[in-house]
Amino acid sequence: MDFLKMKLEKLPRIGMKYGAILKKLNIETVEDFLLHFPFRYEDYSERVLIENLQEGETATVMGEVVQSKLVRTWKKKMMITECFVSDETGTVRAVWFNQPYVSDSLTAGKGVRLAGKISQDAKGMFFSNPAWELSSRTPTNTGRLVPIYPETEGLTSKWIRWQMQNMIKYADALVDPIPENILKGLHLPILSEAVKSLHFPKTLKEFELAQKRFAFQQMFLVQLATQRVKISWDKQNAVSIAFNETLTKYFVESLPFTLTDAQRKAAFQILKDLEKPLPMNRLLNGDVGSGKTIVAAMASLSAINAGFQVSIMAPTEVLAKQHFESISKIFSKQDITVGLLTNSYHLINKSEFRISNFESNLNDECLKIKTLKIQSKFKIQNSKLSAEKKEDISRKKLLSELVSGNINIVIGTHALIQKDIKFKNLALIIIDEQHRFGVAQRAFLQQQIADINDGLPGKIPHLLTMTATPIPRTLTLAFFGNLDISVLDEMPKNRKPILTEIILPSKRKDVYDFVRKEISKGHQAFIIFPLVEESEKLTELKAATQEHTRLSREIFPDLKLGLLHGKLKAGEKEQVMADFKDKKYDILVATSVVEVGIDIPNATVIMIEDTERFGLSQLHQFRGRVGRSDKQSYCFLFTGSKTVKAKSRLSAMEKTSSGFAIAEEDLKLRGPGEFLGTRQSGLPDIAMEHLSNVKLIEIAHDYAEQTLQNSPDLKDYPLLQKELNKFQQNIHLE
Ligand code: ADP
Ligand code: MG
Repeated sequence: MDFLKMKLEKLPRIGMKYGAILKKLNIETVEDFLLHFPFRYEDYSERVLIENLQEGETATVMGEVVQSKLVRTWKKKMMITECFVSDETGTVRAVWFNQPYVSDSLTAGKGVRLAGKISQDAKGMFFSNPAWELSSRTPTNTGRLVPIYPETEGLTSKWIRWQMQNMIKYADALVDPIPENILKGLHLPILSEAVKSLHFPKTLKEFELAQKRFAFQQMFLVQLATQRVKISWDKQNAVSIAFNETLTKYFVESLPFTLTDAQRKAAFQILKDLEKPLPMNRLLNGDVGSGKTIVAAMASLSAINAGFQVSIMAPTEVLAKQHFESISKIFSKQDITVGLLTNSYHLINKSEFRISNFESNLNDECLKIKTLKIQSKFKIQNSKLSAEKKEDISRKKLLSELVSGNINIVIGTHALIQKDIKFKNLALIIIDEQHRFGVAQRAFLQQQIADINDGLPGKIPHLLTMTATPIPRTLTLAFFGNLDISVLDEMPKNRKPILTEIILPSKRKDVYDFVRKEISKGHQAFIIFPLVEESEKLTELKAATQEHTRLSREIFPDLKLGLLHGKLKAGEKEQVMADFKDKKYDILVATSVVEVGIDIPNATVIMIEDTERFGLSQLHQFRGRVGRSDKQSYCFLFTGSKTVKAKSRLSAMEKTSSGFAIAEEDLKLRGPGEFLGTRQSGLPDIAMEHLSNVKLIEIAHDYAEQTLQNSPDLKDYPLLQKELNKFQQNIHLE
């Protein structure tokens, strides 16, 4: 009988009730249970003598119960167990609230271990609600490194520990997906040992090795996934798109600004890639505001001119809509039809200049796209010329326009990767991430892209991914070795660095006054509130709504404040953004939904609340919402924390405006876990949290390469193959 596959609800100790709760956490079998890891530990391993107890510290004491009684406070109707425990050095008091059964077990004369935090009141030092165990029991909750599990309704950490104690013996049956020789070479424990060590670590060293092992497993799987995708990608063919120099030059000259050298170089690399009959897989890694869109437009223009279709995918509907607007504008002088396809939008934008109105001012045979003749430099912004015609059409109609090839470029969300969407000849896919996508997600998406119905038999589309999360140089080789990378590490010349300041609570009012001044100049401001976890969405909403009300009533009663949060529908978000753009609001109060590349050049101030809760790279992303024009912009980082550490972390933001420098700093502080993108991988978070080991990534990279050389399809490693499939299934894109 396979104990590991046993259903938990069938185990008498667990039963239907707890079985159902566990099921909600996706824990159904003994194996699942064993792989449910603690997220932190209390160190109760050192026994402290009672005379040495210190207020505020966490400690384990061992002694004998001298007295214990149950008191009922009639005012609050609370049951308090009060117990005195002595060791050879003194006596300490312990109290438990509403746990009357404690006094039944802890009768005078019993040996006991208590563990917890020491408090102090008028009567002296005491333990408040400590963990306790009779000394006769094996240490589980006290006297050791005690694992703390994520708790849910009805499941305490203590309960899980108790169950785990009984089930841990089955861990020996766990088979290890990682080849033994690899682990041996790295002196890392096999799976069963590592699982035991994470639940019940005997020593810190043992725990750390187990952690390292899971971290390695994580990276090894990521490496296998990406390298495998690369191998299959490299075997494919793509259409070759001739580089049309005249067209490119003409387009660049018609822009209202001069390209930066970095933009020129990146565009050239991309256009060269497109010429090859092999699918491009390039990452355009550019800081916020570095001008990625125009580079993407140059690539698109080249593909469209060669007679092919292009699609651009954005992470949210709001962003897709924004891209639709800006791409339509950018191509308003070309006879290019732009489509927008998301769950809520089906739009099409045809240039109104019908063919007869066009005259190519370039006697270039290769120029297929009719282009309006323009004499001087043409301002995109004040374009009376962009008499485009936007049309709302049905999804069905839009799809038929895609198959027929009437739409040259379609913008959308992930909704673009759907079985019923067919293209006439899709040759280039551009993904604008903005989000922090990890390597693993990226590989997965790439796999999906190869399966798109592109209308080009035997070919797959070229792929250009744009990311606004600068990737630290130290990570590029090991993590992104499967990609070609172009870097936009230069800002357009008209930009002034954003002046950034850390604000302590006492200076809040000054900032409000400053904002008011900026607004009186006709500028606009953002106020950002954190949204960190999915589970916080409701509280976040409340906080933002309350703040919006408070600010509107008390601080800026004479100004107009908009509110943007994650619970709004796409259409509503879009409306708020559009209204903000149209200056119907002076200030936009927003949760972190605004992080994704919103472009409001008139906004010059951004205030960010609760900065402790964001990583530096994320703060940098927010900051990038301002400084998108030639106006001087400001960023104020509010911190409630007075600690030197918090300030020194944020000071990187004051010192540099380079996303790349900030990313390096973030890497130092938080490790490379963020860049892996494996939050939902099912492996213990604790392994990732403590990981700041770039070396380990390199090792994983090399082992993955070797493994795939030995067995390209992993046939010789069926367990690994299975684990990898599981891993990929767990990677969600949104
Ligand atoms: P991001 O890289 O963050 O996506 P965008 O492509 O949205 O940046 O560009 C930000 C703004 O900068 C846009 O308004 C765009 O028109 C403008 N821009 C792009 N390139 C240049 C340039 N070389 N000089 C001046 N402005 C530019
Ligand atoms: Mg962008």
